[in-house]
Amino acid sequence: MMSDLLRNISNVFKRISHAAMRAGRNPEEIKLIAVTKTVSPERIIEAIEAGLRIFGENRVQEAREKIPEILKKCPGITLSWHMIGTLQKNKAKYAVKLFDVIHSVDSKELAIEIHKEAEKTGKIQDTLIEVKLSPEESKHGIRPEELFELLEFTSTLKNLHVMGLMTIPPYSENPEDSRPYFRRLRELFELANTKGFQLKELSMGMSGDFEIAIEEGATMVRIGTALFGERIK
Ligand SMILES: *Cc1c(COP(=O)(O)O)cnc(C)c1O
Repeated sequence: MMSDLLRNISNVFKRISHAAMRAGRNPEEIKLIAVTKTVSPERIIEAIEAGLRIFGENRVQEAREKIPEILKKCPGITLSWHMIGTLQKNKAKYAVKLFDVIHSVDSKELAIEIHKEAEKTGKIQDTLIEVKLSPEESKHGIRPEELFELLEFTSTLKNLHVMGLMTIPPYSENPEDSRPYFRRLRELFELANTKGFQLKELSMGMSGDFEIAIEEGATMVRIGTALFGERIK
């Protein structure tokens, strides 16, 4: 019998493919980031055995505990780790050590800190800029009015590479409610590219709304619950 995890992985891939085909896109353009916050190293290793390679964590401390343990148990397997949560400046040095991509750059100060840490080891740190598209105060991210100034600025940092944009729409039961936010992010992405910024990635869509995000152009979907089940914590 197939385990829940294997069944969930297979369902999520099917749903990604169907959404891509509905939108006339190639499903291979879309990267599945398995969000493993609160998920144990044992279950993450199961997911690796099932073929997943890209993982997202939202807390530096949790990642510092889990990632080295997983790497030790999976020698020879190339994994990609993405920091998807809010990053405090004083944790930038750990984030640069642990993560291939940081999705949550939302200020010059944070960009400077990440760049400084990357420079120490000669790493070119891949990042995304998190854009705040809803007025809700609790959400992190830079306001769209400030995006281009931040893009100009980060283009001067040689050890920081901005690959694209990320957003988190306000929570809603109805996935269609996310569509205007995803569309707006894609419009900003296209505008940035007409200005010459060469962005490639759009990180948008979670368990509740990833199909809508794919229809609107997502290249990275960040999915936790639909793979690993409801989080207890
Ligand atoms: C937790 C989290 C996700 C995944 O959420 P699910 O609804 O469980 O798929 C995606 N993005 C971010 C930034 C998160 O913190």
